[in-house]
Amino acid sequence: MKKVCVITGGSSGIGLSIVKLFIENNYQVFNLDLSPSAEGDFRQCDVTNVSQVTEIIDEISKQHTIDVLISNAGIHFSGTIENTSEADLDNVFNINVKGAYAAIKAVLPSMKANNNGAILLMASDQALIAKHNSFAYNLSKSALASIAKTTALDYAAFNIRANAVCPGTIETPLYHKAIDNYCQKSGADKNEVHQDEEKLQPLQRLGQPEEVAELVLFLASDKAKFITGSLQVIDGGYTAQ
Ligand code: NAP
Repeated sequence: MKKVCVITGGSSGIGLSIVKLFIENNYQVFNLDLSPSAEGDFRQCDVTNVSQVTEIIDEISKQHTIDVLISNAGIHFSGTIENTSEADLDNVFNINVKGAYAAIKAVLPSMKANNNGAILLMASDQALIAKHNSFAYNLSKSALASIAKTTALDYAAFNIRANAVCPGTIETPLYHKAIDNYCQKSGADKNEVHQDEEKLQPLQRLGQPEEVAELVLFLASDKAKFITGSLQVIDGGYTAQ
């Protein structure tokens, strides 16, 4: 029988690569995203709407046991604390953190009843280190690391594992949007900014979404059954510096 995986933000970038790899590995994948996707079982969902997330996951749980949750939907936001309005902070937190809270809370009854489950939170290298001009994003990703740890402790007795995945700079639409915004504001040349980004990485290149998907597949599998409460870095050596 196929294992069942629920993912948020599976229509683009890292999430889309995860959906494809999980399907290739015989999972049934439910993708909760704002934007439609042809890959997996799509459910239109705004993760900031807690009751909508709960309703959709409850409906899935009625017909399936949920084996894996990947809370991946997220946005990037640049700004120091002074350049971050209250509305900006709320928006980043509602998507990046409250969305994870909603999805985890909704899958727990199914996982507890099955005495089994793997929860992955898509954090960032910014859960471990700070980056300039990234106040709200840093804060939100540190919060996800904390959620992984508290969930791991509170649900270990139910054989439910929770881990945070911490990618460095990965070449996705989110990355391109972030450097486009930067170039628009600063007048910098996009090719130069991209090359500078690559040079900042010890491995001299950006990560690819497929590489993050492979780590997520491993962490979701029984091969990783002793790994819980951890922050798993995949960053080409960036945070080792
Ligand atoms: P992406 O290409 O922008 O994909 C994010 C997906 O999430 C999109 O399909 C987006 O839909 C969806 N989404 C956004 N807001 C949503 C909401 N309120 N409800 C439901 N879905 C929503 O981004 P990515 O680079 O793959 O990033 C995925 C995750 O990895 C994020 O949590 C990000 O912070 C994290 N991450 C990325 C990097 C990187 O360098 N790329 C590094 C570390 C961590 P729309 O397109 O319709 O908005």
